Amino acid sequence: MEFEDRCHKVQEPKFDCLLFDLDDTLYPLSSGIASHVKKNIGDYMVEKLGIEESKIENLGNLLYKNYGTTMAGLRAIGYSFDYDEYHSFVHGRLPYENIKPDPVLKHILKNLRIRKLVSSSRPESKPISHVSCNRVLVLNWHASLQIFTNGDKDHAVRALKRLGLEDCFEGIICFETLNPPCPSPPCDGEASIFDIAGHFSMPGAAADELPRTPVLCKPNVDAMEEALRIANVNPHKAIFFDDSVRNIQAGKRIGLHTVLVGTPQRVKGADHALESIHNIREALPELWEEAEKAEDVLIYSDRVAIETSVTA
Ligand SMILES: [Mg+2]
Repeated sequence: MEFEDRCHKVQEPKFDCLLFDLDDTLYPLSSGIASHVKKNIGDYMVEKLGIEESKIENLGNLLYKNYGTTMAGLRAIGYSFDYDEYHSFVHGRLPYENIKPDPVLKHILKNLRIRKLVSSSRPESKPISHVSCNRVLVLNWHASLQIFTNGDKDHAVRALKRLGLEDCFEGIICFETLNPPCPSPPCDGEASIFDIAGHFSMPGAAADELPRTPVLCKPNVDAMEEALRIANVNPHKAIFFDDSVRNIQAGKRIGLHTVLVGTPQRVKGADHALESIHNIREALPELWEEAEKAEDVLIYSDRVAIETSVTA
């Protein structure tokens, strides 16, 4: 029984995944990328969708506020466009040179001890076959670092490369994870477009009367749960870093341990708040403590295996 208890402990670390938003989380808002994204979205709405320039600011704000991303809102109110073309227009022309290599963050991520456990299972060079043990310990650690962004994959890969972090993550959960290529035909005119500005200009207008969007993205809790299911991430064992308060609050609702990035001020739904992603170590010492405890158990478990062989 004692042996089984120890095995149980080994197989249940507190966290087995760290999920990181990308934009304005892994690099600072001061890079200016966010303002370029906003400008490019506005240009797309004018040049490709034929929306009046004077309406862009208010419409963009309403869509972003009510749908999570402007793109999701544009689709909801009736615009139809090719997703790849949209991403190429909005992200493809960004000044990626504004994103600077971040060797400090790379060092932090590469030295997360919880991450090291991924490769801490018994190495081939140290077999236990010489021990006449009738019970073999299976050290089933899997702690992974993943990107969780609303952006498209090309953008995520380019930004990570600029940061010098392209080899720090096991996976990228992104726009394409949840959204198949847009199947709709090109929009055939203004007649089919829902007037969201007009809707909110009416007294008592409610957000729950808005048309639904086919685009799945943060902070929609159903979309977030689906994304994590596809990526095989258990939210109750994952830590989620994001600079968006509403994403953090949605993450909390689906069971994630949450860390708001970009401000030291905690808000409702945030378990922690970091002024910069560089503050992970100072703000989340339990990551390292957890790893240390786990490592202790790991080492101890080797001894348990040998002890068991003696008693078998
Ligand atoms: Mg962000």
